[in-house]
Amino acid sequence: MSSSLPSLDRFASDKLAALDAAALRRRLRETDRTDPVRVQRDGKTLLSFCCNDYLGLSQHPAVKVAAIDAIARYGVGAAASRLVTGNHPLFAGLESRLAALKGTDDACVFGSGYLANIGIIPTFAGPGDLILIDELAHACIWAGAKLSGAKVISFRHNDVEHASEFLQSSRAAFRHSLICTDGVFSMDGDLAPLPDLAAVAERYDAWLMTDDAHGIGVVGGGRGSSFAFGDKVPVPLQMGTLSKGVGGYGGYLCASQPVIDLVRTRARSFIYSTGLPPASVAAASVALDLIRDHPDLCARPVNLARRFTAALGLPQAESPIVPILLGEATAALQASDRLLQHGFLVTAIRPPTVPAGTARLRLTFSALHDEADVDRLATVISNEILRS
Ligand SMILES: *Cc1c(COP(=O)(O)O)cnc(C)c1O
Repeated sequence: MSSSLPSLDRFASDKLAALDAAALRRRLRETDRTDPVRVQRDGKTLLSFCCNDYLGLSQHPAVKVAAIDAIARYGVGAAASRLVTGNHPLFAGLESRLAALKGTDDACVFGSGYLANIGIIPTFAGPGDLILIDELAHACIWAGAKLSGAKVISFRHNDVEHASEFLQSSRAAFRHSLICTDGVFSMDGDLAPLPDLAAVAERYDAWLMTDDAHGIGVVGGGRGSSFAFGDKVPVPLQMGTLSKGVGGYGGYLCASQPVIDLVRTRARSFIYSTGLPPASVAAASVALDLIRDHPDLCARPVNLARRFTAALGLPQAESPIVPILLGEATAALQASDRLLQHGFLVTAIRPPTVPAGTARLRLTFSALHDEADVDRLATVISNEILRS
């Protein structure tokens, strides 16, 4: 039959068949999320340990009211790029809150974290420049680096010495250099060694950029990875998302005034894409106030993650993300299925999100989980997954 398909459909079908055969096909599953940690799927209530809504702010009453009020006042869409007519008055409040939280002159909000990275990186690097990226950094950092046309080199995960060797041997051959890393690694949960990276960046006049998608709201007292090492680490480009700990949607860059001013006039994903809807901006502003005012709430996800790693004898969690490496994609899918049978939703993470041979369960802990939930999960994982 497939030979009678038009070539485009045949191309897609063959690709899908290959992905199916390798257990790497992904499917959307309808999931009703009406509570920060409990979801409904196929008529069953499941306790989710795979949402990035670390503080439950996506469902916080004050955050919801802010979004509803913004819709009532400004409507549902921004209507244009922010440089045209889409810069409604809520943006200034959000950007000043982000800058205050991160300790920078200013901030620039984008449509999403992905859009932020593919806009920021080409603004600061191009042909003739060098970008060093941690090998486990997020997909959209790589996408931004590729778009920039700069020379891109990966260094071994969290290996500052390796990054430094590249700079020592090659920095002089390039005009500018960027070092890009996740602040909190999205699939591994560990922190980048920012004080050492900042020192290397300083030594070789490279510009350090952190993607703190999983840092804001949950490490460094809620201020993110630059604040997780005692003194504030000098990171001139602090990028992140409003879609995880902040609970809503959108991306941002926090930086000095000239850097933000340049981004606003040069970053293509900022210029040529519609501004965030007013509701998203209003929601994030209230969420950031909650983060600023509630350090105990911000500390709770990591504390619960540590309770879990201690119970299983795993290395102590550094963030709310705890990976359990299982190897092959099928092993991760089976483990996820087994947890489903016990009422836990923990999606299997497979290549190319993670390197081949490192498929895993990726657990995320929320401030709204109970200690008893965490203990029950630890028992089930210990009995059903680590011991089988
Ligand atoms: C989720 C994520 C992004 C993308 O952010 P969105 O706002 O969801 O587009 C970027 N970087 C990292 C490290 C992420 O985990």
